[in-house]
Amino acid sequence: MKKIQMVDLISQYEKIKPQVQSSINNILDNAQFINGPDVHSFKDELGAYLGAKHVVPCANGTDALQIAMMALGLKPGDEVITPSYTYIATTEVMGLLRLKPVFVDCEKDTFNISPKAIESAITARTKAIVPVHLYGQACDMEAIMKIAEKYDLKVIEDNAQAIGSDYTFSDGTVKKTGTIGDVGCTSFFPSKNLGCYGDGGAMCTDNDEIAEKLAMVANHGQSKRYYHDVVGCNSRLDTIQAAVLRIKLRELDNYIDARRAAADYYDAEFSEVKGLTIPKRVGNSKHVFHQYTLQLDDGIDRDALVAFLGEKNIPAMIYYPVPAHKQKMFASLETSSGSLENTDWLTTRVFSLPMHTELEKDQLDYICSTVKEFMKG
Ligand SMILES: *Cc1c(COP(=O)(O)O)cnc(C)c1O
Repeated sequence: MKKIQMVDLISQYEKIKPQVQSSINNILDNAQFINGPDVHSFKDELGAYLGAKHVVPCANGTDALQIAMMALGLKPGDEVITPSYTYIATTEVMGLLRLKPVFVDCEKDTFNISPKAIESAITARTKAIVPVHLYGQACDMEAIMKIAEKYDLKVIEDNAQAIGSDYTFSDGTVKKTGTIGDVGCTSFFPSKNLGCYGDGGAMCTDNDEIAEKLAMVANHGQSKRYYHDVVGCNSRLDTIQAAVLRIKLRELDNYIDARRAAADYYDAEFSEVKGLTIPKRVGNSKHVFHQYTLQLDDGIDRDALVAFLGEKNIPAMIYYPVPAHKQKMFASLETSSGSLENTDWLTTRVFSLPMHTELEKDQLDYICSTVKEFMKG
């Protein structure tokens, strides 16, 4: 059996090696490292895949969130409603821009932000909502967009874990995650569902004016060369990374199928195991399984389980052990709104198993039987 890893990027690379090497060599031969033709082609190809009018690439997913908040005109003191149960990047940029993150609870079964909690957190200073499509499944975007419309709020989707996922509205309209709010932000960190071989990120929008602002903020606030209208930053996607992403974008739907097949396998093995709750799949979103995250009943020793798996050479991770509202970086802020009981409970009870595009049947078998062995006690 091949060594089990949380994410196996090497086996995945083996299958696209000739294309990747020839693309990168071509860039080296032409020295078009910044804004080369692959960047422009990737922009168009990702836009076509997502069904988004504009794609603005940038240096990483964290920058994408920051640039989106700057381009939408959020100002110091503005309140932004966001889940506490997420990767820190989502909320850290709010701190950096001196916005006020207002952390609300998630739903226990989907891990995603609760629309009800959003609505009760709204004040006169609320300016935006940042939902995170955690682990690869869409938030309840129909409810979130209704709230945003009612209170005139901006919506920035953190789509770093869900690229390729879609969401079906009650009228039957289907949209890709990241194309529903005002701006969708994503990350091409190597382990993400669409990952490059370094750092990368992108924003997308259907609004021409917002697209122009995003591009301007990402490029030193520049309207035309050497004329800088607003304070921006320097955030670009390298040509080499864009070339890698063009190749991997063509594989993305296959990658998603492979992740979903591994998740189906886990679901079938674990659905009847006492003490374990498998991740819920909602009917109106296609789960793309960035992570496969289980919940352990109260009283079962999570550390012991992770250690047991480790001894058997099975990696397992806790995403995330500390919610944002309990991070020291936010200690001086009075930020939470309402109870965060699901968030607090989940951070002590979840664990994630290996999830990637190259999992083989003997590996899945071994992982499942080892988890079950522990659960039997
Ligand atoms: C990975 C991730 C980010 C940040 O992306 P980087 O490219 O690492 O900056 C933001 N939000 C979520 C939910 C993520 O998983």
